[in-house]
Amino acid sequence: MAPMGQFVTIAAHPTRRRSSEIKIADNGTQDFYDGPDAAVAFISLPQTPHFWLVNGRIPQSLLATPVAHCPVIPELAAFPFAENLVAADVEIRDGYITAIAPPQTGPKTVPETVPQVDMQQGLIWPCFVDIHTHLDKGQSWNRVPNPDGTFASALDVVQGDAEKYWDREDLYRRMDFSLHCSYAHGTQALRTHFDAFGSMAATALEVIHTLRQEWSGRLNLQAASLVSLDYYLTPAGTALADQVAAAGAILGGVAYTNPDLIAQVDRVFALAAERGLDLDFHVDESLNPEDQCLRAVAQAKLRHGFAGRVVCDHCCSLSVQSPEVMGETLKWVREAQIGIISLPLCNLYLQDRQPNRMPRYRGVTVLHELKQWGIPVAIASDNCRDPFYAYGDLDGLEVFTQATRIGQLDRPIADWARTVTSTPADLMGLPQAGRIGLGQSADLVLFKARTFNELLSRPQADRVVIRQGRSIDTTLPDYRELDDLVGIA
Ligand SMILES: [Zn+2]
Repeated sequence: MAPMGQFVTIAAHPTRRRSSEIKIADNGTQDFYDGPDAAVAFISLPQTPHFWLVNGRIPQSLLATPVAHCPVIPELAAFPFAENLVAADVEIRDGYITAIAPPQTGPKTVPETVPQVDMQQGLIWPCFVDIHTHLDKGQSWNRVPNPDGTFASALDVVQGDAEKYWDREDLYRRMDFSLHCSYAHGTQALRTHFDAFGSMAATALEVIHTLRQEWSGRLNLQAASLVSLDYYLTPAGTALADQVAAAGAILGGVAYTNPDLIAQVDRVFALAAERGLDLDFHVDESLNPEDQCLRAVAQAKLRHGFAGRVVCDHCCSLSVQSPEVMGETLKWVREAQIGIISLPLCNLYLQDRQPNRMPRYRGVTVLHELKQWGIPVAIASDNCRDPFYAYGDLDGLEVFTQATRIGQLDRPIADWARTVTSTPADLMGLPQAGRIGLGQSADLVLFKARTFNELLSRPQADRVVIRQGRSIDTTLPDYRELDDLVGIA
């Protein structure tokens, strides 16, 4: 917009944090001008320990327990919308949710001096839980772009980048940058995998230890080792399991189809059982129907009577197997009580990529079938701005929005919102996270959107994030902060 005409400051809409200005252009038309930072929050919260969010809506599936006298809104629950939303007022006191009441009933019982914030039917979500990321690789795109966008190239160029650049400072700054992104978007807990061959493990664990302390109270940070499973058949693999145990981390790795797969998986379960560790496997990230490492992991968990938590990630090959083969694997997975983590954005980027050819198969695992089998399914970010996925910003809402569109999770939307909240929280052993309930910490994301349709149609950059009862600064870090690291002059 040309800097012509007269600016007239007007009173902001009462629900906006900052005032806007209307430009009266020379031709008499009006344009809104929001200043250099257009992503302003849609409401302003009082900086007091006690207030009410009134006239909000909570997805029923995200309530920790059904709230008496808070039924779903009938006209939205009915056909054709099929959105189960509960109208509610929420009391926040000293950092906790102390009441969830039907609209217009709760605040009547409290003094008028307690502030009330009108949500105008906007959605109230719990904070996101991002169970699968690779912060050690993230934010490196300019330094190490993927030359052709394929999986093979990603593996190749990341190895070179790691050998050349991954010292403590480099890892710390890129990982901390990503945590700032994640936190600002409204995430409260996050698991990162870290490449763990040789001396890489000690360096990564040292940085993660520092970040875990610095982010304590804001982000619950978990870490899982990442090596190919054959590594655990070596003395170095045993040493890695000891390092993982000492760090309070999760034992993880990539399972590949190979003649020694069963021995490798058995060894990993034995190492984990001896040390009381949970397990996290990358499996079957391919479009080869012969890849059935998921089944091998499920059978091994049952064979070992393994008591810890086990999750398997990607599981792309399920999407190209016959219903009979897929069903046989899902039977084992359900019996073994293994959680599945889908990474749709990364899958879309890497799977079925060939030069000058439209991708036919998208590689996202069988989300609907897993749900029908009663298998816990989470959806997560995976890589961000690195050779495995060039884009992304560790935004739980973006992940959910894209997954909904890719996987047709919307007719009905049902309880799919749990895939980025309570289900990953359960799989991470955080039973209080990712849901809204009485007595729980007030860790919430507030949206202007009133329905799932409105929510999934826009990025919701004007969302408000509440942590322990206080709104946080949702300003995203500037990519320029990393210019010197990634080779931008
Ligand atoms: Zn991964």
